[in-house]
Amino acid sequence: MKLAQRTKQIDSSGIRKVFNLAQKIADPINLSIGQPDFDVPEPVKQAAIEALQSGFNRYTVTAGLPELREKVLAKYRAKGFEGEDAIVTAGVSGGLVLSFLVLFDPGDEILMTDPYFVMYKHLANFIGARPVYVDTYPDFRLRPEAFEAALTPRTKALIINSPHNPTGTVYSEEELRGVADVAARHHLLVLSDDIYEHFFYQGEEAPTIASFYPNTLVLSGLSKSAAMTGWRLGFALGPAEIIRAMTELQQYSFVCAPSFAQQAALVALEHDMAEAREAYRRKRDLIYEGLQDLYTVQKPEGAFYIFPQAPSGDGEAFVARAIENKVLCVPGSVFSEKKSHFRISFAAPDETIQRGVEVLRRLADESG
Ligand code: PMP
Repeated sequence: MKLAQRTKQIDSSGIRKVFNLAQKIADPINLSIGQPDFDVPEPVKQAAIEALQSGFNRYTVTAGLPELREKVLAKYRAKGFEGEDAIVTAGVSGGLVLSFLVLFDPGDEILMTDPYFVMYKHLANFIGARPVYVDTYPDFRLRPEAFEAALTPRTKALIINSPHNPTGTVYSEEELRGVADVAARHHLLVLSDDIYEHFFYQGEEAPTIASFYPNTLVLSGLSKSAAMTGWRLGFALGPAEIIRAMTELQQYSFVCAPSFAQQAALVALEHDMAEAREAYRRKRDLIYEGLQDLYTVQKPEGAFYIFPQAPSGDGEAFVARAIENKVLCVPGSVFSEKKSHFRISFAAPDETIQRGVEVLRRLADESG
């Protein structure tokens, strides 16, 4: 069978290698997982169960429950962003697929930071658009002038993810305003992936570029904040024309986001994250304090990842060695054009983090 040409654009060999290695390890110290270690909050589960039992099991309208869309719009109105319309999607992944398909023609360029969330690159390549990388090493901060320098006549949008996967960076209001300024001067759309907004350790909610730039398409969801990764619930809001096109495409693809999860999302959006945020701030401290004297590493301000430099400068070789020592983590090359770093997820029980730190400290010394 000859597959479509576009399948050749995707190369997942890096992460596959890690999975293959990891499968052979008994009792691993798993610091590779991109989802919270807590379960869905009880009231959210109850809302889902009630929805299922009351027969709320059919298709919903394509764009999602009107009251949920309104809630999402109101949530962002409170941050100073007037989304014209909203759609409920099958996770942020669903929103990314729909938005990329309706926005980008082959050859269109999409600016993104390097490191980047892995899906942006591969999805862009899959549809023939061009990911253009703005290098943010070694401190992973946003430099508006670097975005400006990467612009070409084909640049159509830039994508901002804050709090950031894989580095844990949270961009300041000043950095976001700087990039918004560049976008405004060049009439660019901004895609803002806010999925980790509640995992922020310097306050309650991370700033979003949407607050400073009206021509933004926000993508967010409940996979992380309500630990609903398997329920596939996300949303997108922004310019009406884009939401309309995404809704049309959803009609011929996903049809709708899972109905029970939409009902539960109404409750999840009200859920107070304070306790989880505190627990994750502590986990952040645990991993950062455990590594900072032996590794070149930035202190994460959000999300649940930390992105140290490999002692040898080869993240892939280092991760292979970490896995041999039972610590599962991900080579930076999965998220970057460089391979110098590696990603650790601290969305794990404290005890797992501690065991991981012990091994990583030993490995840093051995490389030393
Ligand atoms: N964006 C980022 C930055 C992510 O880390 C993830 C999940 N790893 C997603 C989007 C997709 O999340 P979901 O489809 O579960 O909503």
